[in-house]
Amino acid sequence: MMDIDRIRAETPACREVLHFNNAGASLMPAPVVAALQNVLNEEIALGGYEAERRATADLEAFYTEFAALLNADPDEIAYVENATRAWDMAFYGIDIGPGDRVITHGSEYVSNYLGLLQQARRRGFKIDLVPSDATGQIDVGALDRIICSRTKLIAITHVPTQGGLINPAEDVGRIAKAHGVLYMLDACQSVGQIEVDVARIGCDVLSGTGRKFLRGPRGTGFLYVRRAVLDRIDPPFVDLRSADWTGPDSYEMAPGARRFENWESFVAGRVGLMAAVRYARQIGMRDIEARVTDLAARLRDELGVLKGVTLHDQGARTCGIVTLRKQGHDPADMAAQLRAQGIHVSVSSVSSARLDLGPRGLDTLLRASVHYFNTKEEIRRFAEAVDRL
Ligand SMILES: *Cc1c(COP(=O)(O)O)cnc(C)c1O
Repeated sequence: MMDIDRIRAETPACREVLHFNNAGASLMPAPVVAALQNVLNEEIALGGYEAERRATADLEAFYTEFAALLNADPDEIAYVENATRAWDMAFYGIDIGPGDRVITHGSEYVSNYLGLLQQARRRGFKIDLVPSDATGQIDVGALDRIICSRTKLIAITHVPTQGGLINPAEDVGRIAKAHGVLYMLDACQSVGQIEVDVARIGCDVLSGTGRKFLRGPRGTGFLYVRRAVLDRIDPPFVDLRSADWTGPDSYEMAPGARRFENWESFVAGRVGLMAAVRYARQIGMRDIEARVTDLAARLRDELGVLKGVTLHDQGARTCGIVTLRKQGHDPADMAAQLRAQGIHVSVSSVSSARLDLGPRGLDTLLRASVHYFNTKEEIRRFAEAVDRL
C-alpha cells in the first residue's frame, strides 16, 4: 500500500495548491529537490567540474535506474535535455530517402510531426497515417496492412498529450517486428504514470522527459536505443562525448547510447532526474499505475454527471489524463478561473493536435491530469469547482 500521507508531506505544494497539471509539469518530491540542490550547492562551493566529480556515483546511477525502470541495459540509455531533442537525436539519424515511407498516427506529438514534415519535404519520403479504430486508438489491423516494402519507420506516441488514451504499443511492436521495421515510441506521457517495459513493447527507440509524470526537474529528458539497432542510426550531431577523435582524420562513435548525448549538460538536472526515477521505483510503478488509473476513472465519473460537461478521452484503455469541455465556457477561461482558486490544469489546442482534435471538430480542451499523490478529496473539490464555474 502506498503511504499517501508521507508522499504528500514530501510534496509540500500539496498543502497550497490542487495540482492537476502533471502532464504539463508535475511537482518534484523532496528527495528530487534535495538531489538537485545538493549539486548546485557543490557547484557554488567548489566549481562545476569539481561538483560533477563528486556526483560521479549519482551520474552513473542515472543509467542503472533508467535501465531498471524500462527493463533495458544501462548502455542503452542516454541523457538528453528534453524529450523532443531525444526523439530528434534518433529520428534525424535514420536513413530515410526519396520514395521511402514513414508511418505515424493522428495522436503523434506536434514537434515530432513537425520534424516528420520538415524531413519529408527535404528528403522526399512520404508520411502514411495509420487510421484510428472505433475507440480512437491506433488501428492495429490497418497498420499491418499499410506497411509496405518502402516503410522505413513506425513512429508513434504512446499516450498523447491531448487526451487520456493509451495506444496499443505492444501490438504495434509485434507488427513492427514481423515486418522488420524500425519502431520509435514517444513515451513522454506514459513513463512515470504506467509501467513501460521496452522488452515487452518491442520498441527500438523510446524517448521521454523528466518533468512530467516522472516528477523530475525541468530541462531534462532521456532516450532509450536498443543495442541491436545502433548501427541503423547515425546521430545527426557528434561531439567529444558522443565520439572519440582517434586520429587527425578519424573518429569512432562512443559505444552504446552515449553517442546520442552531448558533452555539456545540466549536471544537477541529471542527478535530480535520477533521484526522480529512484523515487518512482521505490513507490513501485505497478502501484503508481493502479492508483493513477483509479483516480482518473473517478474524476471522469464525477465530471461526467455535471451539467454541461462533456468528456473527450478516447481509447480502449485510459490513463491519468482527463480532457473535458463545459458548455458555454472557453477552456482557457476555465483554466484561468481555476488557477485563481489555486487549481492547476492546462489547455490542449488544435494548433498542437491538428490530426487529432481537428478531425474531431474540437478547437480546445481543458486538460486535468492526476498523479498518485492526488486524492479523492481533491477530485471532489475539483468537480465542485468545475460545476460552480
Ligand atoms: C511534452 C511532450 C513531448 C515533449 O517533451 P519535451 O520534454 O517538452 O521536449 C513529447 N511528446 C509528448 C507526447 C509530450 O506530451
